[in-house]
Amino acid sequence: DDPKPKYNRILLKLSGEALMGPRDYGVDPDTVRGIAVQIKQVHEMGVQVAVVVGGGNIFRGVSVAAAGMVRATADYMGMLATVMNSLSLQDALEKQELPARVMSAFDMRQVAETYTRPRAMHHLKSGRIVIFGAGTGNPFFTTDTAAALRSVEIGADIIMKATKVDGIYTADPVTDSTARQIRHTTHMNVLEKQLKVMDATAISLCMDNKMPILVFNLTEPGNIIKAVLGEEIGTLVED
Ligand code: UDP
Repeated sequence: DDPKPKYNRILLKLSGEALMGPRDYGVDPDTVRGIAVQIKQVHEMGVQVAVVVGGGNIFRGVSVAAAGMVRATADYMGMLATVMNSLSLQDALEKQELPARVMSAFDMRQVAETYTRPRAMHHLKSGRIVIFGAGTGNPFFTTDTAAALRSVEIGADIIMKATKVDGIYTADPVTDSTARQIRHTTHMNVLEKQLKVMDATAISLCMDNKMPILVFNLTEPGNIIKAVLGEEIGTLVED
């Protein structure tokens, strides 16, 4: 028998950096293709996949605001960056013959559909990958919060938060040799111990709505599939 997925509908959160691969700015086409191939494998198991992409590989509002720009304006630029990343993922998915739709949190009709929940549900149920662009559409938020919000809206079973490390650690594994990986924890513990998973706004939204979060390493090929099959990888945050 083919292995059965543990989740039917997932929200995959990719940081902008996940699309950067070995580069230090922008989008690496090979890396994006690799992600699209993994999404295709999961999709072929019958899993509905929604994606939220960040923008940090192009533009991050907070850092630019620190250098003097009005924060709200810088954040709108950051949101536009997420739309660029969303388009590059859509392109890579379509090249894998996977129908994909970018849904923007604000109107940009010639570029992407505007997000509405019913349309998003329709796309998912029709077997299309939905990529949520422009974050929440509001400055002072992050794409992690967008991931939390959209996951709850579409009734996802879990948020899969892709990172460059194997999960949550007790300390920074790069600088502290005593750091060990935490396999399982709660939203409250993440908040109290200020574990670096997602920002507090995103975590508390997940906590209030009992949305589990799996933090896992995207740089290990095949990990998205392992995560969907429920194999013991990464760190699971749930109540
Ligand atoms: N952003 C925003 N509102 C949102 C989501 C994102 O203002 O709802 C802006 C913010 O400036 C942020 C940038 O978009 O710095 C890129 O998003 P994020 O930093 O979350 O990307 P990631 O770290 O995942 O690459």
